Amino acid sequence: MQIHENFPLKSYNTFSIDARAKFFNSFSSAEVLEELLMIYSEYPVFILGGGSNILFTKDYEGCVLKNEIKGIELQHEDAEHVYVKVGAGENWHQFVLHCINHNWAGVENLSLIPGNVGASPIQNIGAYGVELDDVFWNLEAFHIGDRRIHTFTREDCEFGYRNSIFKERYKDQFAIISVTLQLRKKPIFHTDYGAIVEELEKMGVKDLSIKAVSQAVINIRSSKLPDPQKIANAGSFFKNPEVPTEKYEALKLAFPDIVAYPLAKGTVKLAAGWMIEQCGWKGYRKGDAGCHAKQALVLVNYGKATGKEVYDLSDEILQSVKKKFGVALEREVNII
Ligand SMILES: Cc1cc2nc3c(=O)[nH]c(=O)nc-3n(C[C@H](O)[C@H](O)[C@H](O)COP(=O)(O)OP(=O)(O)OC[C@H]3O[C@@H](n4cnc5c(N)ncnc54)[C@H](O)[C@@H]3O)c2cc1C
Repeated sequence: MQIHENFPLKSYNTFSIDARAKFFNSFSSAEVLEELLMIYSEYPVFILGGGSNILFTKDYEGCVLKNEIKGIELQHEDAEHVYVKVGAGENWHQFVLHCINHNWAGVENLSLIPGNVGASPIQNIGAYGVELDDVFWNLEAFHIGDRRIHTFTREDCEFGYRNSIFKERYKDQFAIISVTLQLRKKPIFHTDYGAIVEELEKMGVKDLSIKAVSQAVINIRSSKLPDPQKIANAGSFFKNPEVPTEKYEALKLAFPDIVAYPLAKGTVKLAAGWMIEQCGWKGYRKGDAGCHAKQALVLVNYGKATGKEVYDLSDEILQSVKKKFGVALEREVNII
């Protein structure tokens, strides 16, 4: 097995941060992963997917292992559903297109999210009113410590808003090797979120289909979100914070235009992007680190920014939002 030392990670993270890994390898099966863990047993291990939700703030003094386990397999079906097992190293969007080609419904609203299938449960990816949680059946994950494969059901994963047990109690303890989704034979459409209806009208869609919804989502995302191939970024840098209704009402008195979405259980989700914009960060640039000119929630690397510079900018943003609104933002991107 070839050992890669002092390995450049710039093309392995969508922030395009020029960090290095002490060791780097990829694995295409749980068996190869096990071998690698034996070889690098003295070092910390970081499991890498598509690198679209991470910020390297320094070189990684351990072994970065890139998950390349492939395969899409229809496991079984019942009257309403198909159960599809997907290798963690499959590209998420290509998998969504595969589902659409097979008329398997449920993930069309999650079109064009970068990254790999194996990372999708980590932060319970979500967009346009749908989360992975809605279609998740189970997953298999290799425990880095006991070197055994464990199965996690939906309940085991403790999914929340951009969160799961893998970002909390089991952080960095498992390598997810496959994810099984429960997809519908007959779609239930979710078109009431964002500008999907308007986009479908613009497209002249008469008969709604999962293909049309997927295309509408692709069109909206392509027009709104910066493409990491053109400007390096990792999507939304911060989560939208949830606050108690009383806190929201007090904020609404002081800031009548505040953008918010009511949630169940007496809480309200505030639009972090709006608050960041109100603090004057939208379009801000310091060196090569910046806050995107159209999407204040997205931090960008215009070329040679270091991870530390991007992180420091995120810190300044956090502090100013706290000062102006009394709200603590939380980073969505994984800081390494
Ligand atoms: C332009 C853009 C738009 C985005 N839009 C959205 C969006 O709409 N909704 C959304 O939810 N996210 C969005 N994201 C964030 C990102 O695409 C998702 O979080 C995605 O799931 C990350 O996948 P990845 O393979 O790139 O993970 P990576 O960045 O490689 O890893 C992320 C974390 O998951 C861990 N990890 C990765 N693979 C595994 C594995 N197999 N086993 C164990 N741990 C693993 C890593 O260790 C790391 O902690 C966006 C990102 C970009 C750049």
